Amino acid sequence: MDSDLIIIGGGLVGLTAALACAHKGASVTLLDAQDPDEHLKAEFDGRASAIAASSFQMYRHLGIDERLAGHVQPITDILITDGETGGYISPLSLHFDSQDAGDQPMGFMMENRRLRRALLEAVKDNPKIRMLAPVHITGFDESAAAITVQIDGQDDVIASALIAADGRNSFCRKQSGIGVSTIPYKQKAIVTTVVHEKPHEGTAHELFLPNGPFAILPLTDNRSSIVWTDTPEAIDAAMALPEHMFAAELARRFGNMYGQVGPCAPRWAYPLSLQMAEDYIKGRRVLIGDAAHAIHPIAGQGLNMGLRDAAALADVVYNARSNGLDIGTNLDDMQIWRNFDNRILAASTDIFNRLFSNNIAPIKHARRLGLGLMDKIKPAQSFFIKEAAGLHGELPSLLQ
Ligand SMILES: Cc1cc2nc3c(=O)[nH]c(=O)nc-3n(C[C@H](O)[C@H](O)[C@H](O)COP(=O)(O)OP(=O)(O)OC[C@H]3O[C@@H](n4cnc5c(N)ncnc54)[C@H](O)[C@@H]3O)c2cc1C
Repeated sequence: MDSDLIIIGGGLVGLTAALACAHKGASVTLLDAQDPDEHLKAEFDGRASAIAASSFQMYRHLGIDERLAGHVQPITDILITDGETGGYISPLSLHFDSQDAGDQPMGFMMENRRLRRALLEAVKDNPKIRMLAPVHITGFDESAAAITVQIDGQDDVIASALIAADGRNSFCRKQSGIGVSTIPYKQKAIVTTVVHEKPHEGTAHELFLPNGPFAILPLTDNRSSIVWTDTPEAIDAAMALPEHMFAAELARRFGNMYGQVGPCAPRWAYPLSLQMAEDYIKGRRVLIGDAAHAIHPIAGQGLNMGLRDAAALADVVYNARSNGLDIGTNLDDMQIWRNFDNRILAASTDIFNRLFSNNIAPIKHARRLGLGLMDKIKPAQSFFIKEAAGLHGELPSLLQ
């Protein structure tokens, strides 16, 4: 064996999984198709992620929080409203305040490129992880004792188990013959960052508009990350706008909430779909992150699901190793542990998006009333705050 595990895909989930498993004593070979330095360029990924409190706890255990110092914005409040684009906003809103659930931030916002850099540096410093990138993987060969990954122009790599963290279009998933069910949404999302005059005070805003949510998510230094979901036609048109017109459209959407507002980063557009793998395990292979499940960004939970996969994997691998068992034939707990949680979250975000992204009058009035009612029911609010923080259910040890 070259290592206990081979992880294919050095995205945010694959990097975290490598560090989590190494933290629990496993040796890891991490393979990625792209040069990691390309991943760090400003033009690679403009997204910022809301990392749930429990996921951030894992980053504390792994020492990533220190590497992120100065780049993490706590989310202390979430304000949910419903309205019309650039016009009427319902007075019935829902306000989640972290003081109602133990005075801990519900999550932490950070730019993906900052998190990626911190994770890559930690991987480089970790003697239990060997990263090979860029590599071109040509195939796999699985035997009763091990799994071998063939790499173009390089030696094969052999390990007990293969972890596929190679994203939504996973080569490993396809090679393993694992099917997916996909629901495309008639929506796309623009992501960009804005700088504003007034402070956001750690508040995340989700404004539900008829074509999709408009989210304003707090970042450090009086900046916010925007996730603007709309019809593909509207997003394509917004992407084509010259800078000053795009800035004017954003300013119209903000109103006078934060004083003067202007974009301070490029725009990125993402098509949206729900995609679930039919199985997470096949022989010595396990799927994690977007390779296993990709969901609507409406609740900012896609990456968090992958991070919970990584934490669960670290416990499953630790249990097998510490009992002297073959890791690759003792992965079944991953399916048991993660399948239910992932499917519930995927289904809820799908229902949530359908309920809020439409202009059907009775549904519109009912959901506005629902938001107003929920605002008055404190126990229900505490439940949702804990859910957003990822604190429900049986948590893997690194999330505790
Ligand atoms: C607009 C938007 C906003 C979002 N906001 C949030 C949020 O606030 N919070 C949240 O939790 N989630 C959010 N998400 C979801 C989140 O971004 C994804 O779930 C997450 O980035 C998936 O990470 P991953 O590592 O699984 O996959 P990826 O980031 O796709 O990484 C896959 C890696 O595998 C490598 N790879 C691919 N193919 C191969 C191959 N054949 N061989 C070797 N390597 C390969 C790639 O180079 C890449 O490094 C958002 C998503 C979108 C679209």
